[in-house]
Amino acid sequence: MTATPDVELPDARTVHNPATGDVAGTVRWTDPADIPRIAAGLRTAQAQWESRGAAGRAKVLARFAVWMGEHRDEIEELLIKETGKSATDAVQEVPMLIMIASYYIKTMEKALAPETRPAALPFMAVKKVEVNYRPRPVVGIIAPWNFPVANAMMDALGALAAGCAVLLKPSERTPLTAELLLRGWHDSGGPEVLALAQGAREVSEAIIDNSDFIHFTGSSRTGAKVMERAARRLTPVSLELGGKDPMIVLEDADVELAAQAAVWGGMFNAGQMCVSVERVYVLEPIYDQFVAAVVAAVEKLKVGAGEGSHFGSMIDQTQVEVTDRHVREALAAGARALTGGERGEGNFYPPTVLVDVNHSMSCMTEETFGPTLPIMKVSSVAEAVRLANDSPYGLSASVFSRDVKRAKDVALQLDAGAVNINDVVANLMCITAPMGGWKESGIGARFGGADGMRKYCRQETVVTPRTNVGAGGNYYNNSLKSLKRTTNMMTKLALLRPRRVAK
Ligand code: NAD
Repeated sequence: MTATPDVELPDARTVHNPATGDVAGTVRWTDPADIPRIAAGLRTAQAQWESRGAAGRAKVLARFAVWMGEHRDEIEELLIKETGKSATDAVQEVPMLIMIASYYIKTMEKALAPETRPAALPFMAVKKVEVNYRPRPVVGIIAPWNFPVANAMMDALGALAAGCAVLLKPSERTPLTAELLLRGWHDSGGPEVLALAQGAREVSEAIIDNSDFIHFTGSSRTGAKVMERAARRLTPVSLELGGKDPMIVLEDADVELAAQAAVWGGMFNAGQMCVSVERVYVLEPIYDQFVAAVVAAVEKLKVGAGEGSHFGSMIDQTQVEVTDRHVREALAAGARALTGGERGEGNFYPPTVLVDVNHSMSCMTEETFGPTLPIMKVSSVAEAVRLANDSPYGLSASVFSRDVKRAKDVALQLDAGAVNINDVVANLMCITAPMGGWKESGIGARFGGADGMRKYCRQETVVTPRTNVGAGGNYYNNSLKSLKRTTNMMTKLALLRPRRVAK
C-alpha cells in the first residue's frame, strides 16, 4: 500500500521526468479492491488519534513540519524530477506547507474546542448550549499533479489536525513526492492515520466509496463525477476545481506593476496553476503601454528544466496539446502571437502573449492551464466586468488601479471566490480567509482559519440543563390553558424587536 515499491512488482509503474524523459522513479499502484481494508485500518487508528486531543496531535504535526524543513532539498529534488518544474517554481511548496502546519499548531486547540453558544430564545435560558467539533473518521483526499507536494498535504494537514485519518491519492502523473512525505510522517512518529493509495480513476472511486468526507482538487469535469459518486452514500464533498482567472487593468494602474504581475501570474509553473492569470482586460488608454511592458518582460524569461530557468516543462503532451489548440484556434480566428505561439521541444511550450483576442476564442473561455497570456482591449470598466464574469468559472481574479477604493468597487462586482488588488495569487497565502471557487470552480473552500480544520468535523450540539430543576417543559402534563398562557407571553416578548424595527 504505502512503501516505495520494488521495480519487480507486477503493478509497479515507472514515472518519467516530463522535462528530460529520464526515469524519475517507480511506484506501485494500489488494487482498488484493497481500499476497504486500508480504510478500515485507518478507521481503527483514527479513534486513538482523536483521543490524543488537539495538543497531542499538534506535537506530531510539529515534528512533521520539522522533518519537512530538514528534508526540503530532498523533497524539491524529487518534485523537480516528477513534474519537470524549474527550481524557481519548486522552492515554493515545502515552505508553504510548513507555514500552514505552523498556523494549525498555533490555532488548533482553540479552533477545535467546544464552543458555548447563547441560548438566544429567552425561555431556553435554563439551558447550556455547547457545540462540539467531532472529526469525520476517514477523509479521502484526491489531488492533482500541478503542485504535488502542496496539493497532497495542505488539505491533509487540516484534516489530521482535526483528528481525522487521511487516505490520500496523489495524481497518477506525480505519485512520488507523496511517498516521500508519507515516509516523513512515519519518521516523525506519526501514527497510521495517514495512508496513500496510488492509481487513477478506479482507486479514486474506491476511496470515495470508503471515506466519510472527500476533499477533491482537480478539474471541474472530474469534480462533477466525484460529487455524483459521493452522492451514492451521501458523503459530503469539498471541491477545489478549475479556473479562468481574469485580470482587469484600469487606466490609472501602475502599468509596470500590472505587467510584471500578469507575466508572473500567467507563466508561473508553466501556467499550470488553478489561480493563474488566464486572461487580461485592459482599459484602452493604457493598452499599448501595458502590452509593450508585458512583451518586454516575457522576452526576458528563460524556459528550461531545473536551475537557471523561470519555468519548466508542462506535465505531458495532453497539456501541451490543450495549450497549442487554444493558441492555434486563436491565431486562425485573427489573434496575433507577440511572443511564442508554437509548441517547443518535447513537453515545453514557450511563453505566448496573444492580442486581438475575443470571447469567440477558446483561449478566452476555456481553462488553458498553459503559459499563455491573452490580452483584450476594453473601452470601459463595465465592459471589463461583464467580460470577466462571462465565464462558467469563478475561482479568483485581480484588479489593478492606483485608486484602491475604486479597485475594491470593481472587485465586488466580480463573480469570484477571491479578488487580489494590485497583486495576483496573494489570497492563496491568506490562510485565515477561505479559498474556494464560485460557479464551476468549486464547492466549499479550503483554509479560512478555524474553518480549515472544522470543515473535516461534524458538529455535535450538546444541550445541558443549567439547574437540576428538571425538564424545561412539562411535556404532556401541561393543560391547553397554561400552554396558551406561556406561548402568548413568549410571542409577545419575541414581537418586541420586530415591532420596534418595523416602525
Ligand atoms: P483531474 O481532474 O484530471 O484529476 C485530479 C485527480 O482526480 C487525479 O488524482 C485523478 O487521478 C483523479 N481522477 C481522475 N478521474 C477521476 C474520476 N472519474 N473520479 C474521481 N477521481 C478521478 O485534474 P488534473 O489534471 O490532475 O489537475 C488539473 C486541474 O486541477 C485543473 O483544472 C486545475 O485548475 C485544477 N486545480 C484546482 C485547484 C484549486 O485549488 N481550485 C488547485 C490545483 C489544481
